[in-house]
Amino acid sequence: MGLPECDAAAYERFCHPNLPVCTEVGDHFCKPRAVRVAGFFDTVLVHTKGTFARKPFILAPWQRNEIVGPLFGNVRWSAEHNRFVRQYRMGWVELARKCGKSELLAGIALYLLAFDGEEGAEIYGAARDRDQARIIWDVASRMCQLSPKLNQREGLRVRRHEHRIVDERTGSYYTVLARDALGNLGLNPSATLFDEVIAQPDAQLWEAMRTAMGARVEPLMLAATTAGNDPNSFAAAEHAQCVKVAEEPEREPHRFVYIRNLPIDADVFDERNWSIPAPALGDFLSVQTLRDEAMEARNDPSKENSFRQFRCNQWVSQSTRWMAMHLYRECTGDIWPTADWGAKLLTGRQVWCGLDLSAKLDLTSLCAFTPPTSKEPGHALWWHWLPEEALPALDTATAHKARQWVKQGFLRLMPGSVIDYDELCRQIHEVLSPYKVREISYDKWSGEAVRQNLERRFGRRLPIIPNEPTYVGMTVPMRELMALTVNHSWCHHGNPVALYCFDSVEVRRAVDNPDLMKPVKPVRSPTGTRIDAVVTTALAVGGWAIRGQEPAQSRTAYGFS
Ligand SMILES: [Zn+2]
Repeated sequence: MGLPECDAAAYERFCHPNLPVCTEVGDHFCKPRAVRVAGFFDTVLVHTKGTFARKPFILAPWQRNEIVGPLFGNVRWSAEHNRFVRQYRMGWVELARKCGKSELLAGIALYLLAFDGEEGAEIYGAARDRDQARIIWDVASRMCQLSPKLNQREGLRVRRHEHRIVDERTGSYYTVLARDALGNLGLNPSATLFDEVIAQPDAQLWEAMRTAMGARVEPLMLAATTAGNDPNSFAAAEHAQCVKVAEEPEREPHRFVYIRNLPIDADVFDERNWSIPAPALGDFLSVQTLRDEAMEARNDPSKENSFRQFRCNQWVSQSTRWMAMHLYRECTGDIWPTADWGAKLLTGRQVWCGLDLSAKLDLTSLCAFTPPTSKEPGHALWWHWLPEEALPALDTATAHKARQWVKQGFLRLMPGSVIDYDELCRQIHEVLSPYKVREISYDKWSGEAVRQNLERRFGRRLPIIPNEPTYVGMTVPMRELMALTVNHSWCHHGNPVALYCFDSVEVRRAVDNPDLMKPVKPVRSPTGTRIDAVVTTALAVGGWAIRGQEPAQSRTAYGFS
C-alpha cells in the first residue's frame, strides 16, 4: 500500500481559504503550508518600529523563499503520528546584524503560538538572560497591540507583568526563558527560539531544551545569531556542524540551515559584497551606516574585527574549516576498495611523495601523488601507520571505522605504543618500490635520523626535502592542493582515512597576513581528530607544483643539507 496523499487541505485555512488541495505523496515541499505561513506574516502581522511601524509585515523575498517557506513547507510522512509533519525540527539562521532577525523570530513565535494548530503549545524565547530574551518577546507583544487582526483575535492576551502571551483557546503560551533561570524542569516545549546563540556560555540550556522537546509531534528549535569570535564556544561548534549540514543536508535532514557569511577571503571593504551577509541591505538596513563603519574599520584593526564579525558575519577566530566536502567528493574518481587496489594500478608511474611522522597518538602518513596530465587527473595513494596501542582510541573517535580500515589495509598497525622508525622506513621503501619516486617532502620536525634512514635505503640521488610546518612552509602546498581540488584535477578514490582527515582539517591564518595559512586540528575537536593525510597530500602536491616543472638538470643538482 502506498503512502497517503498530503493532508494540507484539511488544515485551517486562516490566511488563504482558497488554497488548492495538496495531493503530493511522501516527502515534499508543501506549497499550501508555506504559503499559509508566509500569508500569516503578510496579512496578520505588522511592523513595530520606525517608518514601517503598523504597516503589514510583507516578507522580503529572501525571508519568504529562503527561510519561512522551506522551514515550514518541507514535510515528511510520519508513520508514528500517522500524518505529515514538518521536516525540520531544528533551524539555524546566521546573518549579519540588523537584518530583521528579531522581527522574524517574533512573527514565527506568534504563528507557532496561535496558528500552528498545536494544543497546549509552549513557546520559549531563550537567551543568555531575561533582558536579552525579552527583546523578541517585546516585539511580539507590540505586534499583538498594533495588528488589528491579532488585537481582535479572541482569546489572545498579553500578560505583560508575567512576560507571557497566551492563547486561551488552545491553552498555549509564549514566554521568556533565561539561562540563569535554568532548572525549571518539567517544561514541555513545543518550540524554543534562541536569540543570539553566541552569547550562550555553554551547551547547557540548548541541550536542556532540545531534549525536552521529545513529546511533541512537530517541535521546532530555531536559533538566530550573528557570527561569533570564540572558536571554543558552544555556538562555534554548532556553527561548524551547521556548515557541514549545509554542504551535505543528508547528514542531518531534520536541521534547517540558513547561513550567510561573507567568505573570509572576500574584500570586506568592497560594498558590492555586503549584501551577501546582509540581505536586508538597502531594504531596512542603510548602506550609509555600513559605509561609515567601514571607513572607521579601515584604520583600526579592532574595529575591522567587529566589522567583519557583525556586518560581514564572519567568524573572526584565526582558524576556520578548510575543505568544502562537496568539492572533495567531486574529486573521488572511481572507488578503490582496498589499499593495494590503486597501488597496483599506478605501478611504474612517477610519484611525488609527502611524509608526516609521529611518535605516539597521531597517524604516520605517507602520500604518493601522480601529477595530472592533459589526459587524466592526478591520483593520490596513501599509506597510514598507527601504534597498535593507539587503535582503541582512534576506533572510538571514528565510530569504529578504524578497525575496518585495518582490515582493508588502509591502516597498518605497528606493535606497541610507539612507531619503530627503522621498521617504518623499511616499509616506506617497500611500498614505494613499484614507483619512480621523484622526491619525498617530509615534515622537518620528524627529525634528521629518519631522513638519513630513508636516504640510506633510497640512495642519495633521491631528493628528500625538509619542509617547515609553518605558515611559510605550508601556504603554497595548501593553495596548490585546493587549486587542484577546485579544478577537479586529482582523484582520491575514496580513501577512507584521507576522507576522515580532510573532513576534520581547519586552517589557521597568520594574524598579520591572512594570505598565509597552515593546516591545524580543530581547537574544539573531539580527541582523536586527525589531519595527517591532508599534510602529506599538500606536501606531495606542493613538491610537484614547486619543483616539478624544473628541468631534469637542476633536479639532480639538489644538495640536501
Ligand atoms: Zn503537501
